[in-house]
Amino acid sequence: MNGLGIFKGLLITLKHFFDTYLADFLHRQKNLPLEDKRGMVDSSGLFTVQYPEEVIESPEEFRVVPFLVYEAGENGERNYRCTSCGICSKVCPTQCIYITRKKDPETGKPIPSPEAFYIDTDKCMNCGFCAEFCPFDAIKMNHDFEMSTYVRGETHIFNKEKLGKPVEYYAKIRPVNYALEEAEKAAKAEKTTAA
Ligand code: SF4
Ligand code: SF4
Repeated sequence: MNGLGIFKGLLITLKHFFDTYLADFLHRQKNLPLEDKRGMVDSSGLFTVQYPEEVIESPEEFRVVPFLVYEAGENGERNYRCTSCGICSKVCPTQCIYITRKKDPETGKPIPSPEAFYIDTDKCMNCGFCAEFCPFDAIKMNHDFEMSTYVRGETHIFNKEKLGKPVEYYAKIRPVNYALEEAEKAAKAEKTTAA
């Protein structure tokens, strides 16, 4: 029959329209923000939000570009976890990580800490290999996807300062991963003390 396909399509649209109201209503009953519901895989109805006013919270394993984890010292100095071992730069498929190691000013011997650490974020393909292979939990994948700039020519090569994020930030965006790592470290420390 002529127009049957169009009619079926309109019915699907109508169902989707009512599903949105029903799913939103049920979600509100649980006192959860609507943005969460929009991002749920098992949700029905509308999936979009009024971005940038509304933002769907990223799932924990979401990956954009990496950041360097540091612990803040007593005077606010950054104690980067990175030992400048270079593993991340070796495994990086696009070779967009550049690191140099610090040297002791008196002896000239290398210190396990990065002097320079750069990531060319235009080349980074967000694979997460660097974070996966880092033996020191020093580099992690960020959730921040709002990276476009208004200034033409602004560098997208991030230096150590720009890449650095406090450990509290890591714990906030990846709470499950952070808790697992901390539990692992505590178990290792306990084993060492017992031995
Ligand atoms: S981030 Fe990790 S893998 Fe990369 S150089 Fe530092 S310690 Fe090594
Ligand atoms: S996420 Fe992948 S491409 Fe980006 S810096 Fe890490 S290893 Fe390289």
